[in-house]
Amino acid sequence: MQLLRSAFISLSHNRSLRRFFEHSALGTRLNARFVAGMKPEDALRVAEAVNRQGISVTLDSLGESVTTSTEAHRAADVYHSLLDSIAERGLDANISVKLTQMGLSSGLQNEPGQSAELAESITASLAEHARSSGSFVRIDMEDSRLTQTTLDIVRRVHARAGLRGAVGVVIQAYLYRSQADVEQLLADGIRVRLCKGAYNETPDAAFPRKPEVDANFIRLAKMLIESPIHHALATHDEAIIDKIKVFAAEGAINPGNFEFQMLYGIRRDLQRKLVSEGYKVRVYVPFGTQWYPYFMRRLAERPANVIFMARNFFRS
Ligand SMILES: Cc1cc2nc3c(=O)[nH]c(=O)nc-3n(C[C@H](O)[C@H](O)[C@H](O)COP(=O)(O)OP(=O)(O)OC[C@H]3O[C@@H](n4cnc5c(N)ncnc54)[C@H](O)[C@@H]3O)c2cc1C
Repeated sequence: MQLLRSAFISLSHNRSLRRFFEHSALGTRLNARFVAGMKPEDALRVAEAVNRQGISVTLDSLGESVTTSTEAHRAADVYHSLLDSIAERGLDANISVKLTQMGLSSGLQNEPGQSAELAESITASLAEHARSSGSFVRIDMEDSRLTQTTLDIVRRVHARAGLRGAVGVVIQAYLYRSQADVEQLLADGIRVRLCKGAYNETPDAAFPRKPEVDANFIRLAKMLIESPIHHALATHDEAIIDKIKVFAAEGAINPGNFEFQMLYGIRRDLQRKLVSEGYKVRVYVPFGTQWYPYFMRRLAERPANVIFMARNFFRS
């Protein structure tokens, strides 16, 4: 299973496959399970429908690892106009942003300092826009080479005048460092989305075994929901969700103090069940033409998805 996971994550970096799938009708048909559509309007329409079910949304304009500042600014413009649309339509939605889409380099390119400056200034302008329109910016977490820089950028933007609470970050339970990071973020009052982690990491950075990742997720989730800040627990793992529900009930933690988050197209039954039980749920809705790496990470999480999609494909 671990081998298949690594294989799909490696394939997520394959440029030829990416070019083929992102430009073929076959690709568009396959991605429909996980991606809301190609255009912002597609995602906004999905957000309205999801909101009607009592579920909040976070919008992700797909794309990562841009190579020029022009591309980074163009990607930021999409998010600025999403924030406008969210406000105009009165949606219960915020945005999720990857810093490598906002100019941060993964260390493979030149001038990492400059790239961090660009990503920070774009993040700050998005956070200002979100604050003035009553929304919020979540910075997604990418691979562990970027963890420290991502946290530093979020911390600095959060500390700017008027931006407290307008930006938050993601912590991955598979990293050994995450407990210390959570402690620091709690001290800073920064909102956290906790997830297990979706990239290929080596055993010197991350727990290699799933039970250890799951145990760390539960440990960190408990720390988060006991704090007065509104945090998010992003998982489709029902056993973990059940444990968190019991912990919250035993500690008299108000279910409104935190939210569960899930990905578009995954465990819709569980999303609806949690809402009916009075929990706050948010769905991560990705859209855009650059969907291939996101899609491959979803296959990596559950290789059985390949069989599921193939069956649906030949049935339709
Ligand atoms: C809202 C949200 C935001 C995220 N943001 C980030 C981020 O910023 N950085 C990052 O590294 N990762 C992110 N992730 C991905 C996350 O790290 C995991 O890779 C992913 O959520 C799968 O882990 P799991 O907690 O659902 O547990 P798992 O143990 O992987 O899965 C538990 C169960 O959930 C269901 N399931 C899980 N994944 C799938 C799938 N792809 N298809 C169908 N069923 C599935 C299955 O029933 C499975 O048995 C995010 C996830 C969510 C939900």
